[in-house]
Amino acid sequence: MDKARYIFVTGGVVSSLGKGIASSSIGVLLTKRGLRVNLQKMDPYINVDPGTMNPFQHGEVFVLDDGAETDLDLGHYERFTDVTLTRDNNVTAGQVYLAVINRERRGDYLGATVQVIPHITNEIKARIRKLAQKDGCYDVVITEIGGTVGDIESLPFLEAARQIALEEGPGSTLFIHLTLVPWVETAGELKTKPTQHSVRDLREIGIQPQVLLCRSVKPLSESIREKIGLFCSIAPKHVIETLDVESIYEVPLVYHEQGLDDYIVEFLGLDAPQPDLSEWQSIVQRIKKPEKHVRIGICGKYVNLKDAYKSIIEAFIHAGAENNVKVDLVWVASEDIKANGAGAYLQNIDGLLIPGGFGERGVEGKIESIRYVRERNIPFFGICLGMQCAVIEYARNIAGLADAHSFEFYRDLKHPVIHLMADQHEVTEMGGTMRLGAFPCVLDENSKSFEAYGQRQISERHRHRYEFNNRYRDLLTGAGLKLSGMSPDGKLVEIVEIPNHRWFVGVQFHPELKSRFHTAHPLFREFVKAAAQYHDNPPQPELELETEEAETEFKTTL
Ligand code: GLN
Repeated sequence: MDKARYIFVTGGVVSSLGKGIASSSIGVLLTKRGLRVNLQKMDPYINVDPGTMNPFQHGEVFVLDDGAETDLDLGHYERFTDVTLTRDNNVTAGQVYLAVINRERRGDYLGATVQVIPHITNEIKARIRKLAQKDGCYDVVITEIGGTVGDIESLPFLEAARQIALEEGPGSTLFIHLTLVPWVETAGELKTKPTQHSVRDLREIGIQPQVLLCRSVKPLSESIREKIGLFCSIAPKHVIETLDVESIYEVPLVYHEQGLDDYIVEFLGLDAPQPDLSEWQSIVQRIKKPEKHVRIGICGKYVNLKDAYKSIIEAFIHAGAENNVKVDLVWVASEDIKANGAGAYLQNIDGLLIPGGFGERGVEGKIESIRYVRERNIPFFGICLGMQCAVIEYARNIAGLADAHSFEFYRDLKHPVIHLMADQHEVTEMGGTMRLGAFPCVLDENSKSFEAYGQRQISERHRHRYEFNNRYRDLLTGAGLKLSGMSPDGKLVEIVEIPNHRWFVGVQFHPELKSRFHTAHPLFREFVKAAAQYHDNPPQPELELETEEAETEFKTTL
């Protein structure tokens, strides 16, 4: 391929229409046509990365192998297109301004007035082109521009996109605009005006989109497509209808049926055969028509904001598809458990997951719910803070350290079974300073984790400051806790398990970040399998007794 082509995905009318899923779906279709595709998100906010934002502001922070803390849309890109991204794939206004201002201070622009055009726009263009050249050049770079057209802060990014189209020449750059065509119930009509206005906003800054992706709750009639096409200077067949679908993974199929990928390759002059979507279709079928349901409780702090747990939700969809079950998530606010007891919320679940988190609020509820499932032999999966809470619970209720806790929450602790990592003591800055990114981990061959992965060395992504305190290794392993995954130098505990439990695994890393549409994450897959088995074989009281006996026995030997 001679040179890369560029696709820009913009959004109009309202936010949250799913630009990330649209971009990922286009990525899937082009990848399946044999093209080398790279995806990039431009975020117009001034934060350097979303790592310092509250999940209520931003949703989940998606961590990459290289330790970059990025926008959750990068999670969709990786899950859909099965690529592994790097920090170059997420550009924020903060990064762009920081780079330009650092250069200005160094004197690189000596004599010049530093301005949005050309300095900021040049920096944005350089970051788009850098991606195209990476790894020996991509065929297509898909750049999603965050925000909604008309926002002041996304203007420099749109201007940079316009300049790229101009500089690269005709047929090199395609603009796809995602918009809303609302249904007005009282009029009984779909309304095209907001779309017309948002395309007019784009044209005012010199961008003429060639494709419109129209979100709507009713099908677009031929006359609606013609009307939109006429007002927006777009061929009616390039006005694509995207009705709400049951699963986000149907979106590539919806686009393909309407010929979107045919048009893209034709417009960009790319020679690429039809995609084979048969496997994609069969996984979507399994997601939509599962054999049975299992109920998994998620006990966390941000349960009212599902975007904070995006990758976990998706990982359960992938794991469900592989097990041919639908995972029904039961969201429980950890503070409610503290108030009303775990039984009130967890009675009918087949498994419990405690996700990652920060801060003390709700922690006692999490610990309480772990005790509930441990004692009842209900499958348990703890992630990051969830693993740390499992260690605290075990220390308190099995190893007899009644006041065990994490140093994250209380500094003056008798038993800080979770403590600050050695290299975190001197850290004072908040941005990008946790233990971030992929690290290797070695598994004990006699463990549930090894059964899941089927290999001894794994690599998983991390985002934390605290860890299992090695001073308590002997005590806790003596009390029956298994340390089944360690850093290769043996210094960091990465996985804990309770061997005589059906499935009780706590991991210091974030496995949800590596689950993909085609390949569910091994631990999620096995956790869902254990939950499905629990669903089919109701709890056995003898096992509960066994644990209680072990508990008493251990306490008397202390
Ligand atoms: N707050 C804990 C830590 O920093 C856990 C972090 C997480 O769950 N991502 O270690």
